[in-house]
Amino acid sequence: MTLPTTMKCLVKANAEKGLWMEERPVPTIEPDEVLVKIERTAICGTDMHIYKWDDWAKANVPVGLVTGHEYAGYVAAIGSGVRRVKVGDKVTGEGHVVGNRSRNARAGRFHLDPDTKGIGVNLPGAFAQYLALPEFNVIPLKDSVPLEIGAIMDPLGNAVHTALSFDLVGEDVLITGAGPIGIMAAAIAAKSGARRVVLTDINDWRLDFAKKVAPETRMVNILNENLRDVMTEIGMNEGFDVGLEMSGAEPALNQMLDTMIMGGNIAMLGIPAKPFPVDLGKVVGKALTLRGIYGRQMYETWYKMLALIDSGLDMSPMITHRFAARDFQEAFDLMETGKSGKVILNWNEL
Ligand code: NAD
Ligand code: ZN
Repeated sequence: MTLPTTMKCLVKANAEKGLWMEERPVPTIEPDEVLVKIERTAICGTDMHIYKWDDWAKANVPVGLVTGHEYAGYVAAIGSGVRRVKVGDKVTGEGHVVGNRSRNARAGRFHLDPDTKGIGVNLPGAFAQYLALPEFNVIPLKDSVPLEIGAIMDPLGNAVHTALSFDLVGEDVLITGAGPIGIMAAAIAAKSGARRVVLTDINDWRLDFAKKVAPETRMVNILNENLRDVMTEIGMNEGFDVGLEMSGAEPALNQMLDTMIMGGNIAMLGIPAKPFPVDLGKVVGKALTLRGIYGRQMYETWYKMLALIDSGLDMSPMITHRFAARDFQEAFDLMETGKSGKVILNWNEL
């Protein structure tokens, strides 16, 4: 197959709100890299930060970068040293490109490498017809995994890694934040043997939508319902055994600390927008364990994700909207309303 020399892609072309569709050269690949022809991409909360050009984006993302990091497609070309994948393979990929110098990377804890760079954040991204990716990062997909599921495996990995960071069998689990990751985590917790799963948010649309993906979950809008009353209603007389903080919101974490059992475990994925006060006396007095979660485990989380999908974890209800890539502006406008699950762009429709 002859490759084109140029491609369309979504670029953070100006230091202001928005993304711009531009024509750029198709990336060249190194001997250890793979060129992926992108078929589907999904829009992430991180992309919204970049789109809106908030303080985090200004500090982290270079103007002129091709954005996007949730994708699936087919291998279009391979470098001379690539052995594990071949042209035509259906793939997605890990969006964190790691170094090989740090203690953690040398020890095989690649996801804890401080030299990590993010595709679509620091490196050219996947909102494009073609993406160059190290072979190391490529995840082959079975025929049975749809492209659009491949395109949401990046956030699914955050949900799986966080949910599986503590034993959930027979446990009562509180998840704060019904964003896409919190909703997926609720479905994973149920599948992983949790007894009761409670998901909180302040947005009714999201909690209603969450019922389609994780129907066994008790949804709580904390603006309308008292979490303690809900705990009594569902037969809990102590506290939550495991907490998954997936909002980054101050009231959510403090409510979690209040409602945990003595000796409970909390995994924290949500990124606080700014520092906030927490009553550490509760962490000490309740003998809680708090664990920060970054990204996903390379590549154990990918193994677990594919195994969960193989064993029937159905994430297709997470996808609420599909747009042609040429209509990206509509997709970003929709994402801004907060009334969507995962939103997919089709890169064959340009
Ligand atoms: P999201 O912003 O779509 O969802 C967060 C949800 O929290 C929203 O629905 C919001 O209404 C809700 N919320 C706000 N205040 C709340 C409260 N007091 N109680 C309960 N819910 C409340 O985010 P997402 O894409 O699902 O990601 C979840 C979080 O994880 C975000 O903070 C994101 O930045 C973070 N994240 C972290 C990593 C990591 O590696 N640590 C990776 C990806 C995402
Ligand atoms: Zn993402």
